[in-house]
Amino acid sequence: MAIRRIAVEEAFVTREIAEEWDKALLSKFVEPGFLKMGQSILAKTPLTNDLHERLFDLGAGRIAQMDSDGIDLAVLSLTSPGVQVLDAVTASELAAASNDVLAAAVKAHPTRYAGLAAVAPQYPKGAVKELERAAGKLAMKGVIINSHTHGEYLDDAKYWPILEAAEALGLPIYLHPREPAPSMVGPYLDYGLYFASWGFAAEAGVHALRLILSGVFDRFPKLMIVLGHMGEGIPFWLQRIDNRHQVEVKIGAAKKLPRQPSEYFKDNFVITTSGITFGPALRLALDVLGADRILFAADYPYEVVADAVSFLDGASISEAERAKIYCENAIRVFRLG
Ligand code: MN
Repeated sequence: MAIRRIAVEEAFVTREIAEEWDKALLSKFVEPGFLKMGQSILAKTPLTNDLHERLFDLGAGRIAQMDSDGIDLAVLSLTSPGVQVLDAVTASELAAASNDVLAAAVKAHPTRYAGLAAVAPQYPKGAVKELERAAGKLAMKGVIINSHTHGEYLDDAKYWPILEAAEALGLPIYLHPREPAPSMVGPYLDYGLYFASWGFAAEAGVHALRLILSGVFDRFPKLMIVLGHMGEGIPFWLQRIDNRHQVEVKIGAAKKLPRQPSEYFKDNFVITTSGITFGPALRLALDVLGADRILFAADYPYEVVADAVSFLDGASISEAERAKIYCENAIRVFRLG
């Protein structure tokens, strides 16, 4: 029997949120990275118009594309930066409204879609309530966090209630990239570097390392984080991160942790293949993390899904590894029915 292909980083957006982005771009408080990215992705060009329509569509068009690409099940999430660039009140309302839209789409296509809930970290108490609603009534399988929120990261104690709720409810957090935070975006503003070629991985990677090095996983040992883009570069660096961390602890630059940074990465993280169709990167991830920690993702509609499928279909790995990456790991991590 053919392996079921489950893709776990598939994007959508509501028209309401896209309209709020348009408004936010005109604000004098707009973050410089979001200004650059927003102007690019919201521009009215034939390419972006097509992208927008694909992001809005949770119906027949998307299903037809999945059929033609050979995707059996898409785990959908609100596209980056979601509601995290908005004020707390608007963000909370629109996160809940987008979760309702997503839950309805999953209900209409239960064999084709599953959903990750969006929350507004700007209002942690409300985010916790929304996570409870997401795990219960809305039957969501995880939560999407598009990296920093107004320049802040989830290791900040004010966000711990969100981590605590995600752990308690068994909802993995998909830590998705966005453009770098205002405090580090300067050198990324040129040459398109704020975008996915490098800035996204730098931003999501530093977020993931902040979680590890702050000791968040000693406090929330069952918390599961999902990183896209073959782990945002971290698998490549793990040995050096451990090695240098020891020295950084000795000189008082970092705090001592009960375990090595790499051990948290191997226990509390899984990675996905989104946007990577590069054999050496997959081989490195398999060597470092093993086939149980890698999930397939296509990143529709930003990437060419057919390329992602033909990459993994043709990768020089065993059929058992292919089944884990395409399907079995996603079912385990997101508790898909
Ligand atoms: Mn993505």
